[in-house]
Amino acid sequence: MAIANERTHAFASLSKAGGSCLNRVMNPVVPRRLALVLVALSLLGVGIGWLIESIHAESGKLEANPPAEAPEWKAGVATAKITPFRPMPMSGYAGRKDNPSEGTEQDLFAKALAIEDGEGNRAVIVTTDLIGIISKLREDVEQKVEAKYGVPPHALLMNASHTHCGPSYGRDDTQDYFDFLSGEIVKIIGEAIDSMAPSKLSYSSAKCGFAMNRRTPTPDGYRNHPNPEGVVDHTVPVLRVDDAEGNLKAVLFGYSCHNTTMGFMKWLGDYAGYAQEYFEADHPGVTAMFMNNCSGDQNPYPRSLLFYAQRHGRSLATAVEAALETNQRQYFHQRELHGPLKTEMETVSLEFTEESKRDPFPYPVQVVQFGDGLSIIAMGNEVVVDYSLRLKKELGDRGPAIWVAGYSNSYSGYVPSKRVLLEGGYEAKSRPWKPELEERIIAKAHELFDRVN
Ligand SMILES: [Zn+2]
Repeated sequence: MAIANERTHAFASLSKAGGSCLNRVMNPVVPRRLALVLVALSLLGVGIGWLIESIHAESGKLEANPPAEAPEWKAGVATAKITPFRPMPMSGYAGRKDNPSEGTEQDLFAKALAIEDGEGNRAVIVTTDLIGIISKLREDVEQKVEAKYGVPPHALLMNASHTHCGPSYGRDDTQDYFDFLSGEIVKIIGEAIDSMAPSKLSYSSAKCGFAMNRRTPTPDGYRNHPNPEGVVDHTVPVLRVDDAEGNLKAVLFGYSCHNTTMGFMKWLGDYAGYAQEYFEADHPGVTAMFMNNCSGDQNPYPRSLLFYAQRHGRSLATAVEAALETNQRQYFHQRELHGPLKTEMETVSLEFTEESKRDPFPYPVQVVQFGDGLSIIAMGNEVVVDYSLRLKKELGDRGPAIWVAGYSNSYSGYVPSKRVLLEGGYEAKSRPWKPELEERIIAKAHELFDRVN
C-alpha cells in the first residue's frame, strides 16, 4: 500500500515537473526495478521537454523555404547608395523653398531586382528613396537600359518611395546629381541582371496599421487632417525571393502610405527607409526593397518626430516578417509563383478641363504578371487608395493576387478617384482633371490584365 502510494505520487511529480522528481524516486524503499523504470520515464520526460523547447525556439526563427527540385526562375539584386554628395534643394514641401539640405540622417538607396522565367522572359523592378520618378529620369534610364541590356520599356518598373526628405533632382542646377543618379540606376540594373541565379519566388501578405486616411470632411469642405473613419488599404504585399537552396535572398514589399513622417532638412528614407534598414539588419545578406502603393490620400500617424518614423519602419518591417511567417511550413496563405512572366505597359490619355487649356497627360499603366499567381499593376503619379481597393475588388477573383502600386514610372501630381475629385480638397485640386480619369485608368488596367491572363 505504501509502495502504491509512493508510486502514484512519483508519477504525479513526474508528469508535473518533468525530471525534477528524480531524487524522490531514488528513495531506497522503492524496489530497484521500479526505480529503473521511473528513471527511464524521467529521462524520457526530460528528452520530450527538450524537444518541445527546441520546437518553440525554432518557431521564432525565419525558416528557409524547402528548395524546389529545380527552380524555374532566375533572380538577381543590386543596391546603390544615392545620397547626394553635396547640399542640394530638397523635394516634397513647398515651404522649404530652395534652401539646401543640412546633412544626412539616413542614406538613400536605389535597388534593382531582375527576374527571368524559364523561357527567358525578363522583368526589372527598381525601387528608389526618391520623391517620385520624373519623366526625365524614366526616359534616360529606359533608353540606356534597353540599349545596354536589351530590357524593353514594358519590362522595366521604376517606383519611388515618395520620401519627402530626398533631393529635388530635375532642376538645371542639379544636373550633376541627376547624371550620377541615372548612372547608378543603370549600373545596378546591369549588376542585377548579371548576378541572376536560380531562384524560387513566392507571394504572401500581411497587414500594418499606421497609415490613416488624411481627408476629413468639415463644413468648409475636405481638410488635410487625420480621419480614422476614412478608407485605407493596410495590406503589406510581399514578393519573396529564395535562392536554389531555399535561403531568403530578397523581399519586395509594398504599403499604401505617404512617406512623410518627417519634413526636416536632412536626407532620410523616412519610415520606408527604416523598414528596409531594419529588415536587412535582421537578415544579413538579404536585400529589402520598398514599393510605394496607392498612398495619395494616406498619411503615417503620428508624425513629425524621427522617433515615429523609426517606429513606423519597425512596424512595417515586422509586418513583412509576419507575411513571410504565413508562408512557412504550411502554404495556406502563400502562392508559390510560376511562369510565364509577362509584362505590358501602355499610356492612357487623361484629359484636363477645357478652361485649363492643358494638353492631355500620357498616363502610364503597367502590368507585371507572374503566371496565374500574381499581378503587379503599377500606375503613375500619386494615386489615391480607391484605385487599389477597386482593382482588387474587380480582379481579385480572377485568380492571381492583385498588387496595385502607385508612384511608378511617372510623377506629375495627384490622381484622384472620381469620388475624391468631386468631393474636392487637397488631392482633388492638384491638377484640373476631368472626372472621367478614373474610368479611363481602370479600363486600361483591365485591358492590360486581360491581355496577360
Ligand atoms: Zn505626395
